[in-house]
Order: sequence, then structure tokens, then C-alpha cells
Amino acid sequence: AFMIVAAGLTFATPAMATANNKERSFIMIKPDGVQRSLIADIIKRFEQKGYKLIGIKVLVPAKQLAEAHYEEHAQRPFFQKLVSFLSSGAVVAMVWEGQEVIKFSRNMIGATNPLASAPGTIRGDFGVDFGHNVIHGSDSLTSAEREIALWFKSEELAQYDLTMQAWTYE
Ligand code: ADP
Repeated sequence: AFMIVAAGLTFATPAMATANNKERSFIMIKPDGVQRSLIADIIKRFEQKGYKLIGIKVLVPAKQLAEAHYEEHAQRPFFQKLVSFLSSGAVVAMVWEGQEVIKFSRNMIGATNPLASAPGTIRGDFGVDFGHNVIHGSDSLTSAEREIALWFKSEELAQYDLTMQAWTYE
């Protein structure tokens, strides 16, 4: 029994680390972020943190896609404005992968209201207004899975190893 447990421990640690590193989040630079030339700066923050970019595309979202993306807000008074804004121009839709990427990217993004976002966060550094808050990030595992499936086909997500990750993760 000891041998089995010992063997289990030997192999469980790297295997679990790999599984943890596979969390995915849907991150989108909204039309205001694209128009304000913030694409490179935003990508740079995620890249430098150590997350892995596995999907990216630029598109002008159709109104239906924007509605589906924000369906949880369908009854809110700002819904129509939100949907027209999102479909008013190009966005950069991305999938980032890594340990606790959902929770941590929300920290990197900052509060919904840019004026309540801490300096150093994306919204805190770049935004002023609720409606033009630069970026979207999934807020839970459930929404991440739903949003990734909504915006990307599975073959649009790249599976590859990033050698740098051996230096990001123990
Ligand atoms: P977050 O983007 O931080 O996850 P929510 O999911 O609550 O925030 O809202 C989605 C988006 O709707 C926000 O990013 C913001 O652009 C817009 N929004 C939220 N609340 C308001 C509001 N009270 N007035 C105008 N726009 C809003």
C-alpha cells in the first residue's frame, strides 16, 4: 500500500500542476480599447504575467452575438446600449490559459466602474466611463466555458507547449 501511495504522490504533483494550468478564460478588448490603440498593451500584461494565448481573432460582432454574450443582462435598462456598443466596431476576442486565469484576470481588469478600479488595473489605468470600460473578462468557470464556446470553435484554439512555462510554474 505504501508503494502505491508513494508512487501516487510522485506522479500526482506534476499531473495536478498541469491540470491547474489548463484553466481558460475568455478575454475581449472592446471597441473602445481597439480604437484607443490599447491592444498591444493589454496583451502584453497577460503575456508578462505568464498566461498562454491559445485563441485570438479580430471581428466586428454581429448584434446577435453581442446579445448572446450579454444575455444575463437582457432585462437591465442598459442592455440595448451595451449590445449596440459591442457590435459598433472591431473587438479582439481571446482565450487565455493558465493557473487561476479567471479570477486573476478579473483582478488585472479591475472593477466594472473604471473610476472605482485601482490604478495598475486595466480599467483603472485606461478607462473613465462604465460603458467604455475597455475590456471584458469571464467572471466564473461557467461563464468562461459558455463564452469560449460562443466566440470560438474548438479548432480555433491552439494546443501547444510554451517552453517559458517551465519557468513560470514550479
Ligand atoms: P463586468 O464587465 O465587470 O463583468 P457586468 O457583467 O456587470 O460587468 O456588466 C457588463 C458590462 O455592462 C460592463 O462591463 C459595462 O460595460 C456595462 N454595464 C454594467 N453596468 C452598467 C451600468 N449600470 N450602466 C451602464 N453600463 C453598465
